[in-house]
Amino acid sequence: MVDLKGYKRIVIKIGSALLVDRESGLKRDWLNSLADDVAMLRAQGAEVLLVSSGAIALGRKQLGLPNRVLKLEESQAAAATGQILLARAYSEALSKHDVQAGQVLLTLGDTEERRRYINARETISTLLRLGAVPIINENDTVATSEIRYGDNDRLAARVATMVSADLLVLLSDVDGFYSGIPGKDLEAKRFDRIEEITPEIEAMAGDAGTELSKGGMVTKLDAAKIATEAGTVMAITSGKELNPLQNLFDGGAATWFEAKDNPVTARKKWIAGQMEFSGKLIIDEGAAKALLDGKSLLPAGVREVEGDFARGDVVSVHSLEGEDLGCGICSYDVKDAKKVLGCRSDEIEVLLGFTARGAMIHRDNLVLKVRTQEAEQSDA
Ligand code: GLU
Repeated sequence: MVDLKGYKRIVIKIGSALLVDRESGLKRDWLNSLADDVAMLRAQGAEVLLVSSGAIALGRKQLGLPNRVLKLEESQAAAATGQILLARAYSEALSKHDVQAGQVLLTLGDTEERRRYINARETISTLLRLGAVPIINENDTVATSEIRYGDNDRLAARVATMVSADLLVLLSDVDGFYSGIPGKDLEAKRFDRIEEITPEIEAMAGDAGTELSKGGMVTKLDAAKIATEAGTVMAITSGKELNPLQNLFDGGAATWFEAKDNPVTARKKWIAGQMEFSGKLIIDEGAAKALLDGKSLLPAGVREVEGDFARGDVVSVHSLEGEDLGCGICSYDVKDAKKVLGCRSDEIEVLLGFTARGAMIHRDNLVLKVRTQEAEQSDA
C-alpha cells in the first residue's frame, strides 16, 4: 500500500496505446475507470492533472490515414482532428463525477520561455483552484519537429515541475523500469525503487535511436531526471488494466523514483543558487519581521523598488538600513511592483485593474539569509 494521502498534487501521464485501439478507436471502459480513479484521488484531497496522448492516434483513424509512419504535416492534421475527440472524451468521462475538464495545449516554448511559462502556470493553477482537471497535451498542430517535445513523458515532467506537483505517474504498457528489455532479456528485472539515476541506470534504458527504446525508457528516464531534480516523486506503472491509479496505490507493480527534496525545498535551492538579481526590493521593519516569522512579503511593506525585472525574476530583498535579507521570485514586474508598493492588498486591484496575486514574494518563493523561526522549528 502506498499512502496516497501524502500526495496533494498529482500529474498522470497517459500513453496513446492505453487509450486508443488501432482498430476500435477510443477505449471508453478504460477511460471511465481512469475517471473513477481521478474522482477517488480528488475525494482524498489531491489535485489531479492529466497529460494525455492519443490525439494523433485518434485523428489518424478518423481521417483514414494509412498505416505507415506519418509525415510531420500528416501527424499535425491527425492531431488537429484527434484532439477534439480526445478532449470531448475526457470531458464526458469526468462529467459523470461532476468534474469539469479544461483543455491546455502547450508547446516547448510555453514550458521553457520564462514569460510564457509563467502564463501557462497561472492558467493551470487557476483551473486547479476552480476545481477543474487540466487535460494537457502538446500542441501538435503548431509544434514543428525542431521545437517540439514529441513525447509526452518529458512534457508531463515539465508540467509537474511547473505546478510543483509532488507526484508524477507515467502510465505505460510496461509496469516499471527494467534492467534489460522485458520479454527479450530473460535476466531483466524490474526495479521497485530508484534512489538515483546513475550512468549504469541510464545505460539500461537502451539507446534512444533503437526501435525498441523509441518512446520507451529513454524519455521516461529523462522525465524522471526532470521531475526528481525539482522535488517530484515519479512512478512508472502499467496502465493496461482498468483503474490503474487504484492499482498503483494498492501496492501494484511499479518503479518509484525518489525525489531528494520536496518541490518547495528544491525551488528554494534553485533560488538560493542565483548569483545575479535583476532587481531589488527595499522593505520596512514590519515586513522584515513578518518574513522572519515565515510570512510572505506583501506589497504594503515594500518601500522602494529598483532595477528592471519581469514577473518571475529573482530579486534581492534589503532592509531600510541596507541589510541584505535574502532573495525571492517576484510575482510582479517592475512597473506593477512600483505601482503597488506600500499598498494594502484590497487597493491593488483598483490600481492594476485586475485581481493580482497578493504577495510580492510568496513565502514558498523566498530564501532568507537569516534563518526563520519556521526553519528553526522544522529542524528541532
Ligand atoms: N502528443 C501526441 C498525441 O497526442 C503524443 C505524444 C506521445 O505519445 O508521447 O498523439
